[in-house]
Amino acid sequence: MKKFSNQKDLYWNPMMETLSLERLRELQVKKFRKILEWAYKRSKFHRRLYQEAGLKPGDIKSYEDVVKVPKVEKAMMRDIQRKDPFPYGDALCVPLEEVTEFRQTSGTTGTPVYQPDTWQDWEWWSEAWAYILYAQGYRRTDRVFLPFGYNIFVAFWAGHYAAEKIGCEVIPGGVLDTEARILKIQELRANAMMATPTYVLGMADTAKKKLGIDPARDLTIRKITCAGEPGASIPSTKQRMEEAWGAKVYDHIGATEIGAWGFECIAQPGGLHVNDALFLVQLEDIETGEIIEEPGRKGKIVITALDRMAQPCIQFDSKDVAEWAKDPCPCGRTFRLIKGVVVGRADDITKVKGVLIAPSAIEEVVRSIKGLGDEFEVVVTKKGDLDDITLKIEILPDAEGNRETILSQLKDQLRLKTNLGYNIDVHPFNSLPRYEVKAKRFKDLRKHN
Ligand SMILES: [Zn+2]
Repeated sequence: MKKFSNQKDLYWNPMMETLSLERLRELQVKKFRKILEWAYKRSKFHRRLYQEAGLKPGDIKSYEDVVKVPKVEKAMMRDIQRKDPFPYGDALCVPLEEVTEFRQTSGTTGTPVYQPDTWQDWEWWSEAWAYILYAQGYRRTDRVFLPFGYNIFVAFWAGHYAAEKIGCEVIPGGVLDTEARILKIQELRANAMMATPTYVLGMADTAKKKLGIDPARDLTIRKITCAGEPGASIPSTKQRMEEAWGAKVYDHIGATEIGAWGFECIAQPGGLHVNDALFLVQLEDIETGEIIEEPGRKGKIVITALDRMAQPCIQFDSKDVAEWAKDPCPCGRTFRLIKGVVVGRADDITKVKGVLIAPSAIEEVVRSIKGLGDEFEVVVTKKGDLDDITLKIEILPDAEGNRETILSQLKDQLRLKTNLGYNIDVHPFNSLPRYEVKAKRFKDLRKHN
């Protein structure tokens, strides 16, 4: 891929984003020690954790030492928050009166975790998002529409503030319904948008069916930033979104407890840059715990948010799995590049008929076949002692004539990419559930049978 002509204007923070790896490491270790010391002094939870491991903040002297620091998991945060003092337990590192923001995790994997932030933390959130949006081409001349429910979930809140920080004009499309949002985008000629992949596809569908609007032709959205699901990093799903909207679609990755720690840039290199200025991200070998630096080897993602103060995120075990990319990105950033998709939550990967399967692999197949609708559902049950897996799909009305070809393509590709045979259930078009937030397309009913 060609180098970009106006290289300097690609970066939100040109100094940090082109710093050598050695300098970035130095800075990360320095900041890591600082946040560790902060948590050690101010939170009983962290102090206990480190004392039990026989560790003092001063023991961390190098990048390699970081691995000695015990991991924090979501479940630990959940437990600590059920204890006094209310409501955050003794993981909170600032006096309660300094907390200005409350958000919580979506609770898809259990009881939600609360996330307190100070005003300074909230500013940090938008700084992290400013890196993302600037890298994806957001500038002062953009008019950005946010079609999401502004509520207790972090979602695109920080994206809103980051767009303002860059100087964009921001339209909060909060409680409007999907049709009203589409009409507002049309009326105001918004040219950028942030939403989950599921909603991006759902909106295009509603625009066409209910309003007779073809987003690619009739609307002016030219860049879309996704979050919440891996879709924008799955090539076939990205392509569907880009075709439906006539727009560039970019991914980002983050979590409520961590922050927005990675992003795709305009080069669309088939992966995500880690924000090495604000986070320390390491990949650990799942079995040995060894730090993985070389490309092509999958590891568990462990993350520290280097500047988050109220409820620090230090050595957080994200349960996600990824690998480093081989080649540097044409955009010229020195921020490291993660290859392809961050493989679902490690928790989502499950064994069916003895084969390990990630729901994103099924999505990749379904979305790559022309003539299939965007919605699908996977249901795993037990028939006697055997696992049984059913894929529910929709065929587009104008593709009904090719039904047999489509179904045989689908079966072949599924077998090839996931090593499993499925029962295929074709449902009438528009009858499978549509999701606005995180889609629940993978249903494992084996435990209940
Ligand atoms: Zn790049």
